[in-house]
Amino acid sequence: MEKTDIKSMTLSELSQEMRKLALPAYRAGQIYKWLHVRGAFSFDEMSDLSKDLRARLDEEYIIRTCEIERRQESKQNETVKYLFRLYDGEHIESVLMKYKYGYTLCVSTQVGCRMGCRFCASTLAGFVRHLSASEILGQIHAAQRDCGIRVSHVVLMGMGEPLDNYDNVMRFLELVSDENGLNIGMRNISLSTCGIVPKIYELMEKKLQLTLSISIHAPNDEIRSKIMPINKKYPMSELLEACRQYAKQTGRRISFEYTMIDGVNDSVECAKELSRRLRGILSHVNLIPANEFSESPFSRSRAETIEKFVNEMKNNSVNVTLRRSLGSDIDASCGQLRLRNQKGG
Ligand code: SAH
Repeated sequence: MEKTDIKSMTLSELSQEMRKLALPAYRAGQIYKWLHVRGAFSFDEMSDLSKDLRARLDEEYIIRTCEIERRQESKQNETVKYLFRLYDGEHIESVLMKYKYGYTLCVSTQVGCRMGCRFCASTLAGFVRHLSASEILGQIHAAQRDCGIRVSHVVLMGMGEPLDNYDNVMRFLELVSDENGLNIGMRNISLSTCGIVPKIYELMEKKLQLTLSISIHAPNDEIRSKIMPINKKYPMSELLEACRQYAKQTGRRISFEYTMIDGVNDSVECAKELSRRLRGILSHVNLIPANEFSESPFSRSRAETIEKFVNEMKNNSVNVTLRRSLGSDIDASCGQLRLRNQKGG
């Protein structure tokens, strides 16, 4: 029989489990702290539990951990990229970024991805499976342990589409923000989506204080459908209407991600059209020069082109920033390290 995934349980679920095992209620709190605050990799680490109890827990439950398969540090020490191995031998990536205000971890939500964005390495080898809440948490625990630091901010911008793994991602959000657990506040969490419109409405109803990021990457359906297949299902007008309502309902500014791809979406006309379409939405636009990798047919926009694009957006009163691309020397655009590993590079 498959063992139960203990780190995906909430404290109250764990308390019920303890009751089933006829264990005292305080055990749940003890174990939860080991799993979530201290990030224990095994029951053996739980030194205030008896050996017998540890053995019993080990028979019933599995702690889904992320083991470091590869680790790459950027030259300036500002990013660490991890390739993690999961219990079933699958691999995912996370990137730890050091900022003035603390450490941000970019986590994966799926093994592979089925969204098919043409510029993205994560989707090239297809979709394998969803990650459990414990495996998303496990990335934080593994990075914290490896670097001896505390992660203060989390971005769901690694491999996978978070809203395509909705239930597990919601459970992850509940666990990671739990004050008895890692206690990372919703305001320190960003969730990025390629635009699964019905799920954006579902998320809106939860009125969470997280930052919703939309991977927009184009000013119109013609360009967007060419690079992002999801646009054929949920065209831009529907997506932007969902964003408008989301911002209104939650009072939270939407963050739009725009990857600058040479000759595809980087003209001044594109900047004009995007500015017009975002009008009236409480928002911020992040421009990111496309990360290049050998399997990608695209290259990043030229510096002058980017500058013109930024200026046009500013002239149209759009809140816009050009994001410095951290860690491009370590394949830090998600999916690239896993791809390299699969190819034996
Ligand atoms: N599936 C989610 C989150 C994962 S990707 C989403 O689509 O938002 C995180 C961000 O990186 C997205 O905005 C994605 O479009 C972008 N991205 C993917 N490949 C990229 C590349 N080669 N260069 C720059 N940004 C890229």
